[in-house]
Amino acid sequence: MAEFLSLENRVALVTGGSRGIGRAIALEMARRGAAVVVNYNKSPEAAETVVAEIKAAGGKAASFQADVSNSAAAQALVKFTIETFGDLHILVNNAGITKDTVIMMMSEDDWDAVLDTNLKSTFHCSKAAVKHMMRKRYGRIINIASVAGQMGNPGQTNYSASKAGQIGFTKALAREIAARNITVNAIAPGFVDTEILGAVPPQTLEAALKLVPLARKGKPEEIAFAACFLASDQAAYITGQALGVDGGMAMM
Ligand code: NAP
Repeated sequence: MAEFLSLENRVALVTGGSRGIGRAIALEMARRGAAVVVNYNKSPEAAETVVAEIKAAGGKAASFQADVSNSAAAQALVKFTIETFGDLHILVNNAGITKDTVIMMMSEDDWDAVLDTNLKSTFHCSKAAVKHMMRKRYGRIINIASVAGQMGNPGQTNYSASKAGQIGFTKALAREIAARNITVNAIAPGFVDTEILGAVPPQTLEAALKLVPLARKGKPEEIAFAACFLASDQAAYITGQALGVDGGMAMM
């Protein structure tokens, strides 16, 4: 068995790897030896900074623009990964957005944008990656869901539905492709200190943090360590799970 939690000789694709949690996952996977494709949509400079940081540390990385809610773009992203680094072992479906408001105020566009970016992207990227992974009889798919998909959150019907959808998707796909040595797991983070929290009013955040037994926000790196574990050989017997990394918030 490979060295503990090593990702040596692995190729990883991280959607939304330019900022926040995805950035931390890309950096940590590269530090553990994986060649990493850093996908971005609107932040080319941020993605290039992640790639430069990985390369400066002696790792392998490349960036690729793709709006992963779009099927053709997601397919092009997977193709780029395989052509650039010769394989694809680890897919992290991390790209996500929020458009929070109460249901009476929520437009159909706000609903569609969140569902398409968070959930449909998971379908598009997984479908493209699974085609390759089935042939190779190896794969690790990690979906970054949320505690909101387990507990619900007022003002987030669209977001909570997308994240609960990712968890259901995880379980169904895990059962579908386990025989090909491909594991599919989700991580359900709680409140993690990234720009996405900028949209949450401070009083709402303060009230929500009272529900966290560990009484603090999580760090992006803490999600990244969980993702690396699920991507490692040591997690070979774990599939179809939603791992809470939430300071004890949900305790499912
Ligand atoms: P963030 O800091 O806002 O970063 C979001 C990332 O997603 C960016 O890299 C962004 O890239 C990318 N992205 C957005 N739309 C995209 C699209 N259509 N195609 C490709 N990439 C796209 O958010 P974060 O907090 O790191 O969130 C990452 C994931 O964790 C999300 O799925 C989120 O729902 C989940 N999560 C976060 C928290 C939290 O408290 N932070 C808690 C639970 C779950 P560009 O900037 O290039 O567009």
